[in-house]
Amino acid sequence: CGIVGAVSAQNIVPILVQGLQRLEYRGYDSCGIAVHQDGGLRRSRSTARVADLLTQVQHDGVASGTGIAHTRWATHGAPAVHNAHPHFSRESANPSIALVHNGIIENHDELRDELKAKGYVFESQTDTEVIAHLVHHHYDGDLFDAVQRSVQRLKGAYAIAVFCRDEPHRVVGAREGSPLVLGVDETSGARYLASDAMALAGVTDRIAYLEEGDVVDLQMGKHWIAARETRDGPFRPVSREVKT
Ligand code: GLU
Repeated sequence: CGIVGAVSAQNIVPILVQGLQRLEYRGYDSCGIAVHQDGGLRRSRSTARVADLLTQVQHDGVASGTGIAHTRWATHGAPAVHNAHPHFSRESANPSIALVHNGIIENHDELRDELKAKGYVFESQTDTEVIAHLVHHHYDGDLFDAVQRSVQRLKGAYAIAVFCRDEPHRVVGAREGSPLVLGVDETSGARYLASDAMALAGVTDRIAYLEEGDVVDLQMGKHWIAARETRDGPFRPVSREVKT
């Protein structure tokens, strides 16, 4: 239902939580946040209000310059903590991919069967979890590349935000059929993602509206956007105007 993501030199947990609070009016059944901390992925999820998630992350001492957050409106899988986003891939002691998603993946059954055959273990009943494992499967040291490869397999509507254990200062987003904006803070170098510019009110007023099929790479002080001219064509760099 709602997405916020950030790469910053500052602790972005308050910005992520405040962003979710600005999206609360849309309704949701659960919420969650994942950050890069102490060399790994840390996650908190809740079926209560975003305010309770805030209490939880404060209690757990969650703080980081890189992270993603989500409010969920369940379409596949009951409203429950194990179905709340972010979803991880390789749910071992040390997961490597964290992902949030708005929308519906139509071919999730086919992708799940394929990924199960490759040894992926599913921890939720969501359509979303297939994307996390797909990104993991395609990951070879470059998250931007892995997401480009993964979205080529998706049918349906999505806005996603992803980050990974092995590239601590990077968040990648993609959209098709669901909205996603890029927020730019030229002064601090921070980059943000949100499903609605309103989530970034008071954080930055410099916004680029991503277009259908865009994949965006967020790093400190820089970002890149790639798109395809045709559905099966190669991704090429594109620029989207940053407006105030
Ligand atoms: N289809 C996904 C799920 O049920 C995402 C729902 C949403 O947009 O919040 O988990």
